[in-house]
Amino acid sequence: AKVNADYIWFNGEIMPWQNATVHVMSHALHYGSSVFEGIRAYETHKGTCIFRLEEHIKRLFDSAKIYRMNIPYTQEEVVQACKDAVVKNDLKSAYLRPLAFLGDIGMGLRPPIDAKADLMIAAFSWEAYLGADAVENGVDVGVSSWNRLAPNTMPTAAKAGGNYLSSQLISTEAARHGYAEGVALDVNNMVSEGAGQNLFLVRNGVIYTPPGTASILQGLTRDAVFYLAKQLGYEVREESIAREALYLADEFFMCGTATEVVPVKSVDGLPVGTGSRGPITKALQEAFFGIFDGTTSVPESWLDPVK
Ligand code: PMP
Repeated sequence: AKVNADYIWFNGEIMPWQNATVHVMSHALHYGSSVFEGIRAYETHKGTCIFRLEEHIKRLFDSAKIYRMNIPYTQEEVVQACKDAVVKNDLKSAYLRPLAFLGDIGMGLRPPIDAKADLMIAAFSWEAYLGADAVENGVDVGVSSWNRLAPNTMPTAAKAGGNYLSSQLISTEAARHGYAEGVALDVNNMVSEGAGQNLFLVRNGVIYTPPGTASILQGLTRDAVFYLAKQLGYEVREESIAREALYLADEFFMCGTATEVVPVKSVDGLPVGTGSRGPITKALQEAFFGIFDGTTSVPESWLDPVK
C-alpha cells in the first residue's frame, strides 16, 4: 500500500490495515457514492489532540444528509472511533480519513431506502501536502481551464467522493503545466477554490476570500483563518474575486487540513507581490501553528485530546 499504518477502524472494529477490503462491485466504486473527511491530529502541549474533530464529524454527517446516506453510528461514536484509530496506531500526529460509502447494496443506481453506509476510519502519518519547503517559500499555481462544480449540480458543500473528480481534473492539469496546484473559477468565472484548499488574497492590508456562494467547500481551516485574522486585528471580507485580482494581490495563500497554510508565490507565471511570503501570511501561519503549542489561544473544543 502507498499509505500505511498498523490498524484501521472498519464498520465498528479495529482490524489489521491489510484486512480492510471491499468488493469490486461496491456501489461507491461505480457511482462515486461516498462522503469523507480529512482531519489532522497534532502533538500539542496537551498531548496528542485532534483539531476541530467534532466539527469535522458534523460535516461528515451533513455531507451524508445531503445525499440521504444513512451512517449507522452516532456522531459521538464516530468521534470516539477517530480517537481510537490514532491511539491504536500509537501515532503522535496523524492525518485521519473517515469515509462513509455505499458498499454491497446491489447495482441499481438508486440506493435502496434502507441502505446502510459502510464506514472506515484510517489514521496514518502524512506530512505537509504541498511539501515542507512550501510552508516558507510558497508554491506556484495556475488558474485551471476547468471550472468548479456548478450550483445545484453536485453540491460543493458536501465533501463527497464524486466531487474529487473535479479536483483531479484541476490538480492534474496544474501538474502538467508545472504548477504545485490549480486554482478553479466557478461557473460565473469568479475565483472559487483550489483542488483541495480554500483561497485568500491580501491587498492593501485587507484579507479577501470567495464567499460560500462561489462553489466552495467552506473549510474548517478557512474558518480558523477568520478567527485568527480577527485576533490579529485584520479585516476579512468574503467577496466575489475576479481572476485578475489574483495577479494584483500583495499576498495570496491557500489553506486546508492537509495543506495547512501555504503561501502562493506566483499565479500563471506572474509573481504574487514581491514573489516571496508576505507579512500577513506569515503572521497567520505563525498564529495557526501556534494553536498546537499553546501560543495561540483558541476555543477549547478545537483541540480534542485522543485520550
Ligand atoms: N476545498 C476543498 C475542495 C477541499 O477538499 C478542502 C479540504 N478538505 C478544503 C477546501 C479545505 O477544507 P478544510 O479546511 O476543512 O480541510
